[in-house]
Amino acid sequence: MKVHTLGGYEEVGRNMTAVEVDGEAVIFDMGYEMEEVINAEGEVNEMTTNQTLETGAIPKDEVLYESDADVRAIVIGHGHMDHVGAIPKLAGAYDCPILCTPYTKKIVEKQIEDDRKNIQNPVIAVEKRDEYEISDALDLEFIHVNHSIPQATLSWLKTPEGGAIYGNDMKIDRSPVIEETTDIEKMKKAGEEGIELMIPGTTRVEDEGRCRSEESVEVELRDVLDSCYDAGGAVVLSTFSSQISRLNTVLEANDGRRKVAFVGRSLREYTEAAEELGLIDLSDVEVVSYFDECEEVMDKVEGAREEWLVVATGNQGEPGAQMDKIASQTYPFKFREGDHVIFSSQVIPTPLTQANRYSLEKKMKSQGVRLYKDVHTSGHAKKEDHRDFIQMLDPSSIVPSHGTVQKLGSYVELAREEGYTLEKDVFISENGRTIEIN
Ligand SMILES: [Zn+2]
Repeated sequence: MKVHTLGGYEEVGRNMTAVEVDGEAVIFDMGYEMEEVINAEGEVNEMTTNQTLETGAIPKDEVLYESDADVRAIVIGHGHMDHVGAIPKLAGAYDCPILCTPYTKKIVEKQIEDDRKNIQNPVIAVEKRDEYEISDALDLEFIHVNHSIPQATLSWLKTPEGGAIYGNDMKIDRSPVIEETTDIEKMKKAGEEGIELMIPGTTRVEDEGRCRSEESVEVELRDVLDSCYDAGGAVVLSTFSSQISRLNTVLEANDGRRKVAFVGRSLREYTEAAEELGLIDLSDVEVVSYFDECEEVMDKVEGAREEWLVVATGNQGEPGAQMDKIASQTYPFKFREGDHVIFSSQVIPTPLTQANRYSLEKKMKSQGVRLYKDVHTSGHAKKEDHRDFIQMLDPSSIVPSHGTVQKLGSYVELAREEGYTLEKDVFISENGRTIEIN
């Protein structure tokens, strides 16, 4: 078994890995490096594959070409842009289908449709727990895991040399708000059947303890909303648009007390796709994205400030997103002294986003807005969650991914505590390398 570590081994983002057995390979994820995409200011859809390669926005897959492996499938674990973004640029070069869960399929298809390139790979929805035959030798099963987007998976590739688990972004939520808890029984079963290789994401492995549950966020959010509603004034909230469970949490915590508006393009796209699969009920929510619609809703909010809860895009302070537009007084609605803004998110720790958020908060504070930050739980396993994954799946070898070299190293420390040895059965890789698993 060989592992081609193509992207996400020197950074958080740009995920792409291929597993090769007897000359046949399966690619896992084809993602963007989000920082480079933000730098390109929305022009990425118009760029060619070579241009995006030059900017570093997408993984370099030469090693896989050079290996002469026959690529039989592209498997996508979930719908975040650092896992699906590069599909329109790279997938066309491989004559094989793209396999993913139904919600992820909707996101992948939208991504392909928006890009100037016209790729022809069939996109096939595979339900969790179904077994999909990739070739005579290779089968795929998706195991359900919690993350911060619906229908995230651990991808379990069954090969003649044993199982390979690709779990790049996952956690165990014991009290989720939508969907079920990570399928622990199935993971144990996979472990018993024999896992030769595990490729886990390492984004939050440096954090001690466990990731707290979505239900605990609901309790906190309800408290914050209670105090805001008591104090009076306008309330505006922002979270990640693909975090459908959090948007359900917001609706639950509001509990019909105020009318709810979802304002912004990505909110519309992700929530409407989720509604089609029964993952959110938008019947009492006003969902708007075009400028005129947003203006109209924000005009209504201005006229009845204490009757609305506005959920808007742009929690990272992205210039031109809805939070920025609202704070910049683009709409009839203007913040007043004592209005409330809730960030149900974390600031992504990169200089660009930190600077954007700083200037957004500064604008809001200058208008007398009260800020509530980090009403949030991460979608990524922390150290003790990772230990559980290792113990349940009991893999023979581990290649940690989705992190800087430092994060990969922190994972190795944990693996060593669990009895693994560096370079023998746990490996630190780099982008563009191939590791042979014995
Ligand atoms: Zn993710």
